[in-house]
Amino acid sequence: MSRRTFLSLGSNLGDRRAHLRSAVDSLPDVVAVSPVYETDPVGGPDQGAFLNIVVQLETDLTPGALLGLCHRIESGAERVREERWGPRTLDLDIIWMDGVELSTDRLTIPHPRWKQRRFVLAPLRDLAPELVSERDLQLADGAVRVVEDL
Ligand code: ATP
Ligand code: MG
Ligand code: MG
Repeated sequence: MSRRTFLSLGSNLGDRRAHLRSAVDSLPDVVAVSPVYETDPVGGPDQGAFLNIVVQLETDLTPGALLGLCHRIESGAERVREERWGPRTLDLDIIWMDGVELSTDRLTIPHPRWKQRRFVLAPLRDLAPELVSERDLQLADGAVRVVEDL
């Protein structure tokens, strides 16, 4: 059974747009890509601005398989994990899967911090306005601005 699924993608190292493009090209079952937002970092050290998008899949991958795929695509972008919330070539997080609520050591869905982050909520609202209220968007952290589409 396929499920409507939303991933958040972000990059603030190297060719940010190329990292997002190649990640989208590597993902299966893509049905929509949000506008691109340039966003201020939320949490972590002083670092450069991100480009963020949300991608909608219609997929029958299990949550665990999808997480594994996200990690492989991050590795393909030579992501190095140093300090928490530090700069990265690519971050791929599972934000939402219709009908899925789970929390294990490896994976929590919906993503535990999605509501705090305007860089997640703004592009998600473009694709799924019923999941994000205007108030949620106002309460979240971090300035965002739309830039040219991917
Ligand atoms: P944040 O989770 O606050 O956005 P981050 O994306 O920088 O931080 P990562 O280093 O990319 O954190 O991921 C750390 C771990 O988070 C992953 O190895 C994964 O097991 C776990 N994780 C838990 N829930 C999710 C989720 N919904 N999507 C992606 N990773 C998740
Ligand atoms: Mg993240
Ligand atoms: Mg992540």
